[in-house]
Amino acid sequence: MPGFEVFGDEERKEVQDVLHTGVLFRYGFDQARQGHWKAKEFEEAFARRLGAPYCHLCSSGTAALSIALAACGVGAGDEVIVPPFTFVATIEAVLHAGAAPVFGEIDDTLCLDPDGIDAAVTPRTRAVVPVHMCGSMAKIEEIRAVCDEAGLILIEDACQSVGAAFKGKALGTFGRMGCFSFDPVKTITCGEGGAVVTAEKDLYAAADAYADHGHDHMGNDRGLEGHSILGTNFRISELNAAVGLAQLRKLDAILEKQRSHKKAIKEALAQFSEVSFRNIPDEEGDSATFLSFFLPDETRARVVAKGLGEAGIDGCFYWYDNNWHYLRRWDHIKTLASAARLAIKGFDHCPDYTQVRLPRSDGIMSRALSMQIKLSWTEEQLEQRIEKIRGVLAR
Ligand SMILES: *Cc1c(COP(=O)(O)O)cnc(C)c1O
Repeated sequence: MPGFEVFGDEERKEVQDVLHTGVLFRYGFDQARQGHWKAKEFEEAFARRLGAPYCHLCSSGTAALSIALAACGVGAGDEVIVPPFTFVATIEAVLHAGAAPVFGEIDDTLCLDPDGIDAAVTPRTRAVVPVHMCGSMAKIEEIRAVCDEAGLILIEDACQSVGAAFKGKALGTFGRMGCFSFDPVKTITCGEGGAVVTAEKDLYAAADAYADHGHDHMGNDRGLEGHSILGTNFRISELNAAVGLAQLRKLDAILEKQRSHKKAIKEALAQFSEVSFRNIPDEEGDSATFLSFFLPDETRARVVAKGLGEAGIDGCFYWYDNNWHYLRRWDHIKTLASAARLAIKGFDHCPDYTQVRLPRSDGIMSRALSMQIKLSWTEEQLEQRIEKIRGVLAR
């Protein structure tokens, strides 16, 4: 992580194809585009890579989440169960769909706990959106079983875990829809972009139409296209798709490098008895973008986090204090501060988010640290890094 570290001629060539024809739009212009259909090609390749029957590319991971919620019919008045450890986009997408996020506890996978879902279910619950955080997986089979049992729609936020799998099955293919991001800091990037995948033709058709004002994309004449639904514009441009296409071809090499770098650091950390590791339900399927581990308590976690920073180990995160990824520090969510007038504020059942208590999640997050795994480290840099980390833990 991230894909920008391996930018090169391959990306430039794909972009040049598009610039050469001047067709930046992903639909139509059949003659002028001289056979270049970058978005379409990316969709086909991505679907093949994941073993998903259908893929629709869109403008961001946030858009992918909005598309998935819309295609699955989740909206006004519904409740959607989400984890408190995620990127804020998961929660924004639920709110902008007109639904209410309801927080479930996480477990030692750092993802939504299947055993915490029941406690968050109410008669209004429509969907569950687990987030496969930091390159690895939730207990996704158990979560799916809970959803099936309770009749809830499962949508996976796999934005941080492209290329990861559980027992050989790609993350993002367990739920009715899976959402991905190719933003500038993700494992593969196309500048800004995202994707939804699904095995259901009707959901694909709804996603494809919703992301482009409801157009059905049948035939060559845009003016005669049908629109059975209203939609919006979450389209990707051919320029972005072109970059993504080249990056996708590098995914396996990226994963291999990440896994080997992660293994070396993990082995070093494992020598310290106070360190325990994040539960990864299928180690082989880990995309290894991060190494996440626990210290015995909050005090020690803070000391180690500070020590790593002072030792110059970049890319270390103590999420419990971090403004970006954990509910504890998200005052704007707790107060529902927004430029838009959120539908949820008009609900008589609007939750009071300042009162949300997640003791088990706090207990886990207050002891957790994550280290970003870079692609560009040389063997020597990796060795030096490991030495410094050892020094901090030995204190
Ligand atoms: C990055 C990310 C998103 C949003 O993706 P964008 O492409 O930046 O909109 C959503 N969820 C998670 C977990 C993410 O990490």
